[in-house]
Amino acid sequence: MGYTVAMHDGSHGPIRVISLQSGSNGNCIYIEAGGRKLLFDAGISGSCAEERLSLHGRDIRSVDALIISHNHADHISSAGIFQRKYGIPLYVTPRCLAAAQTRCSLGKLKEVHHFRSGSTIRIGDVSIHTIPTPHDGEDGVVFVVDDGQHRLGVLTDLGHVFRDLGATIASLDAVLLESNYDPVMLANGPYPRFLKMRIKGPGGHISNREAAELLASAAGGRLKWACLGHLSGENNSPELALKTHNEVLGGDLSLCVASRHTVSEVMVI
Ligand SMILES: [Zn+2]
Ligand SMILES: [Zn+2]
Repeated sequence: MGYTVAMHDGSHGPIRVISLQSGSNGNCIYIEAGGRKLLFDAGISGSCAEERLSLHGRDIRSVDALIISHNHADHISSAGIFQRKYGIPLYVTPRCLAAAQTRCSLGKLKEVHHFRSGSTIRIGDVSIHTIPTPHDGEDGVVFVVDDGQHRLGVLTDLGHVFRDLGATIASLDAVLLESNYDPVMLANGPYPRFLKMRIKGPGGHISNREAAELLASAAGGRLKWACLGHLSGENNSPELALKTHNEVLGGDLSLCVASRHTVSEVMVI
């Protein structure tokens, strides 16, 4: 289990975030907060997660919890492997787990902690508030990680811009926010019509402009930076996402993009 000595002032220092991968090809976000080490989602292979963490001097075997957002394979496919290979306790809602087990084979699970969507998970001194989403996964949630001093949002697979999402973002110090697609690229892109309808529909993903407008409504307040995530490989590009965000935000907020292929830098709050 992770063990960290608290600093002299009683706090655990900053929150640190590393995106190991973000996108429909697999999601995995590492966060250090309140002296704990957390992984959000397990949509990349165990060896890939281990290797990318080690590039930043982190050991996957010291992670305290793996917390799952929803049952889509790009978020849960390696959950069983993460647990068996590295001994990481799994946090998941019962409905999400049941749905995942009927679709992908997670294998034998030993240490499973159930939470209800909308409840708060407490691990040591860190609280993880879970917020239900209208995304078309089973019992899907997004997260606010709160160490008592800083608040970080992990907000992807949102469905649509639902009520209170803007207020949630305005309450954060930093956010990893979905910025999935450009509507013109989606319309002209290779996806079949049903998939285009799903992505832009109420249970799909939010667009660059929707994400940018959410950030714009929170800019000037508590929010320090945003990392754009879950970009589509076919219907978006990092350059286009940043261009749209900068148009809407006018450079008011520090921005970066979480890669679909490589590990990010260590982001600090
Ligand atoms: Zn996803
Ligand atoms: Zn999803």
